[in-house]
Amino acid sequence: MKNLRNSFMELGIPESRILENESMAKHISFRVGGCADYYVNCIDRKELSGLLSFLTEEGVPHMLIGNGSNLLFRDSGYRGVIIHLEGEFQDCEVQGDTVIAGSGKLLSSVSSLAAKSGLAGMEFASGIPGSIGGAIYMNAGAYGGEMKDIVTRVWLMSPDGKEETVRTGAEMEFAYRNSCLQRTGEIVTKVELKLQPEDAETIQARIAELTEKRVQKQPVNFPSAGSTFKRPAEGYAAALIQESGLKGVSVGGAEVSEKHSGFIINKGGATATDVLQLMELVEKKVYEDSGIQLEPEVRIIGEEDE
Ligand SMILES: Cc1cc2nc3c(=O)[nH]c(=O)nc-3n(C[C@H](O)[C@H](O)[C@H](O)COP(=O)(O)OP(=O)(O)OC[C@H]3O[C@@H](n4cnc5c(N)ncnc54)[C@H](O)[C@@H]3O)c2cc1C
Repeated sequence: MKNLRNSFMELGIPESRILENESMAKHISFRVGGCADYYVNCIDRKELSGLLSFLTEEGVPHMLIGNGSNLLFRDSGYRGVIIHLEGEFQDCEVQGDTVIAGSGKLLSSVSSLAAKSGLAGMEFASGIPGSIGGAIYMNAGAYGGEMKDIVTRVWLMSPDGKEETVRTGAEMEFAYRNSCLQRTGEIVTKVELKLQPEDAETIQARIAELTEKRVQKQPVNFPSAGSTFKRPAEGYAAALIQESGLKGVSVGGAEVSEKHSGFIINKGGATATDVLQLMELVEKKVYEDSGIQLEPEVRIIGEEDE
């Protein structure tokens, strides 16, 4: 890839926010994978718009990263530019019974602010380790709640950075681990969440209860991307994997968690190839045993190795 550092600096992005040949293992919760050619931190909409316009016009591959908790970069890395949002994208404020949050803000912080402000409805998201942007993209959900239930407005930028629009929650086409963003490629800059007033202590107690459930049931001490596979229409991925006798099965440093078979974890020293080979093995065995085809929930990024 040609040297883009000077072009980024001409767009007004300081050198300190342009990382070259950056290991993506540092930025994703699986802690595996190769390097991206560039990793750029953007701090406001003007900068983001300029960067997207430039990359689109030059035909340079690029993608947004939130908190990297649903991504798996291949060992060959990413030939292009990863864009991370900070600065104004981390703003968050409570206005009556709504919360306005920047897309780079973590769900856990927004959920905690809402609880402290006596606003209920976001407890389900407190333990999901994603950003607001990633959660909208995935329609993240847990324990009976999902983003669809609380999102009233979403501020978006077009993929080429030239237009900005606002969509209502209903217009986001939220479905199980899906939203229109997976089709349109638009970028979330900010969201509005509608919550319900309730006693702060009661909300915080519910968050503590859900946190305890997660710690009990999930391998939270090992790097992973959460549930590796989507829930199939015919049952639960974890149950199917367990029934196929795959609990604890490993490839290199990647293992089907003993604690929760829906999670593939990095036991230490795993490569992205280990994880991908284990995913393939799981999909094949579950299909042979049940006729059900598991589909990855984690998004796999990068070119397949030759
Ligand atoms: C231990 C663990 C537990 C988990 N538990 C759950 C759970 O209970 N429920 C659940 O749903 N998920 C869960 N996950 C998965 C993950 O946290 C969610 O999918 C989360 O929504 C991903 O957010 P992120 O910011 O990390 O997105 P990333 O992984 O960084 O990105 C995911 C996708 O979103 C896109 N994206 C990111 N930001 C933006 C933006 N601003 N605009 C447009 N697109 C954007 C990216 O391009 C990418 O395609 C878990 C993961 C882990 C590691």
